[in-house]
Amino acid sequence: MAQSPASASELASCLGIAADEIRDVMIRYPARINSYALDLLGRTGEPIWRQLVPHREELDEAGLPEADPLCETEQSPADGIIHRYPDRVLFTVSTQCAVYCRHCMRKREVGSGTPGTAKLVGAGLAYIADTPAIKEVILSGGDPLMLGDDRLSYILARIRAIDHVELVRIHTRAPAMLPARITNDLVRVLSRFHPLYVNIQFNHPDELSSDAVEACSRLADAGIPLGAQSVLLAGVNDDSGVMTVLMRKLLAARVRPYYLHHPDPIKGTAHFRVPLERGLSILEALRGRVSGMGVPQYMIDLPGGGGKVPLLPQYLQDHTGRHLVVYNFEKKRYTYPL
Ligand SMILES: *Cc1c(COP(=O)(O)O)cnc(C)c1O
Ligand code: SF4
Repeated sequence: MAQSPASASELASCLGIAADEIRDVMIRYPARINSYALDLLGRTGEPIWRQLVPHREELDEAGLPEADPLCETEQSPADGIIHRYPDRVLFTVSTQCAVYCRHCMRKREVGSGTPGTAKLVGAGLAYIADTPAIKEVILSGGDPLMLGDDRLSYILARIRAIDHVELVRIHTRAPAMLPARITNDLVRVLSRFHPLYVNIQFNHPDELSSDAVEACSRLADAGIPLGAQSVLLAGVNDDSGVMTVLMRKLLAARVRPYYLHHPDPIKGTAHFRVPLERGLSILEALRGRVSGMGVPQYMIDLPGGGGKVPLLPQYLQDHTGRHLVVYNFEKKRYTYPL
């Protein structure tokens, strides 16, 4: 992390591009490509490059004017808490990440603050303790695993001391973008707080390097159930072949695909948008060709804070009183008696 090129000129010289190409974007949205991620990048415009290297199109705000269309700020009753569903809250405990993804849905705030300064968590912890309906706390950010082991352990212990909280979940990209962070010490800390789930953002098969797979193994060996949340991104993974390989590799790494997120309409991410039909046809291609365990739910997140809703290909063609007409994964038509 310490070796991540910090300025536009340092980063540009690592990438072999002109600093002018990225300077203006970096003033607006932070960039970080740590030394591990630099090795993964590939060439200009390739899938990992596209996710991590600042691009001028981020400053094009004509199509998508809103930085927070999901109304996370409005749904925040305490600093760091987003409370949208009755039984669970998102708790953003860090603004730092191992890399800053150009498609980030929290682009408006990630990377703010000085690296190394901890976010205050007192108000969030008090809100969770005072709200018995909360059964699950999802640590998010930023990336919670950018906190040091002691800080993380403190936060987890405070959450675990609240009787009504049954589950803790951590949303992270560290196993994919900074696998060295998954140390044995970290795993020991996490495994004191079961039941604890870890969901990891993996968007492209190349992110499952041997280091990343080992990082996942360390977590899985500690009895931590692992899920993947992938974001559908133009020019990265909007292809059924790429997505099939990604899902197979995730299962082989003991990471169960959970959600495929349709990209949120966030300011500065218009160049990642994909038509909904493409997502649905990818899902159709996965079903029947990949283990059912490897077919994620395809989710849209409703603007206005309505929450996530799964979308399915149209398998049900007709519904008479006495039977259903259904298409299978090969697009063959079947009737199903009622
Ligand atoms: C996505 C999200 C959750 C978690 O939703 P699950 O469907 O349980 O994965 C919780 N709170 C907020 C605000 C979210 O955006
Ligand atoms: S790791 Fe997550 S929070 Fe951080 S920049 Fe990437 S998508 Fe955003």
